[in-house]
Amino acid sequence: MSTSKVMPTYYNQMPVSFEYGRGAWLWDKEGNSYLDSLAGIAVCALGHAHPAVTHTIIEQAGKLLHTSNTYIIAKQVELAEKLTHVAGMEQAYFCNSGAEANEAAIKLARLYAKKKEITEPVIITMKNSFHGRTMATLSASGTERIQMGFEPLVKDFIYVTLNDKTELATAIQQHQANIIAIMLEPIQGDGGIQAATEDYLTHVRQLCDQHDWLLIFDEIQTGLGRTGKWFCHQHTSVKPDVMTVAKALANGLPIGACLARDKACNLFGPGKHGSTFGGNPFVCAVACTVIETMEKENIVDNARQVGDYLLDKLKTDLKHPAITDVRGRGLMIGIELDKPCMELTAKGLKNYLLFNITANKVIRLLPPLIITRDEANEIVIRLEQVLTTK
Ligand SMILES: *Cc1c(COP(=O)(O)O)cnc(C)c1O
Repeated sequence: MSTSKVMPTYYNQMPVSFEYGRGAWLWDKEGNSYLDSLAGIAVCALGHAHPAVTHTIIEQAGKLLHTSNTYIIAKQVELAEKLTHVAGMEQAYFCNSGAEANEAAIKLARLYAKKKEITEPVIITMKNSFHGRTMATLSASGTERIQMGFEPLVKDFIYVTLNDKTELATAIQQHQANIIAIMLEPIQGDGGIQAATEDYLTHVRQLCDQHDWLLIFDEIQTGLGRTGKWFCHQHTSVKPDVMTVAKALANGLPIGACLARDKACNLFGPGKHGSTFGGNPFVCAVACTVIETMEKENIVDNARQVGDYLLDKLKTDLKHPAITDVRGRGLMIGIELDKPCMELTAKGLKNYLLFNITANKVIRLLPPLIITRDEANEIVIRLEQVLTTK
């Protein structure tokens, strides 16, 4: 048992602490270098210590950190422009994390219900989903392991199996009058890299149009270039009414955003929501630089090209009898084994490769989007070693 004064909320914490990083590499105190194939869980998309990010951090820190939303924040207005542009959305609300972004989306859905005079609103979410750890977002997450111990839950949510239209039809039949929104991750991240099909997304879009419900996409993990498009749903012709973003938005500084389009705009009026830190000049300046840098350095194309290359290479080169599936999109990749494999992260550490395990038996790769083909090759070589390490 650790004697640390930090509450032990993270299981399986690795016995290593990093001193500094550069690009896709991290160094520990002893000077060992590790190939980072997790990027702080899809956060450091531009890699570690990207010069453009560092430059903005230094420059903005010397100017202004925080004023509160009592005053107009020019950098927040600028970020809203940039982010809604790449996202194909119209308005942004800024907060400090993914859970808070989803919390905002759920509050938006409640206001939409009020407008439609629905007093006991229901949001359909997916089994196996992950939307955060606050009370509303853990209630939205159709995953027992996240909810256990925190009952009673916020009772807005009913859960259906992703890509199962029949189950969805039954749920709709039972709750029709109270449904206000459908919320999902285009690719379930913590759920083990499980993608919604284009057919299913088209179907939920049609249902939302037909019944005047909000379609909410949680693109916190899939967004900002991760899957080889700015946002994962842009691989399809389906557009959400509300979309949440966080993780990679400021490459490691805490920020989240809830974006709205069309009928979801202007639901939050004055006094309806807010955050002390949300959208402050410092994080917004850094997020602006992240988006600009992604554009300038063609990071989204790189994620698609190196992602396709890596997925292909894993499929052909990574030969191990325990592997049952290799799947993903861009640089969001899952390697499923035929049995639980939580012990592999420690073996990864021994081989100087960082990744994590989701859904108990899926190796999840979320490398920085700046990785090269050589680094992708190195990921495959090291994974091979990890799988054969006793
Ligand atoms: C990480 C994540 C969240 C929660 O974000 P936090 O910043 O940890 O609150 C929500 N949804 C998805 C899909 C995520 O990957």
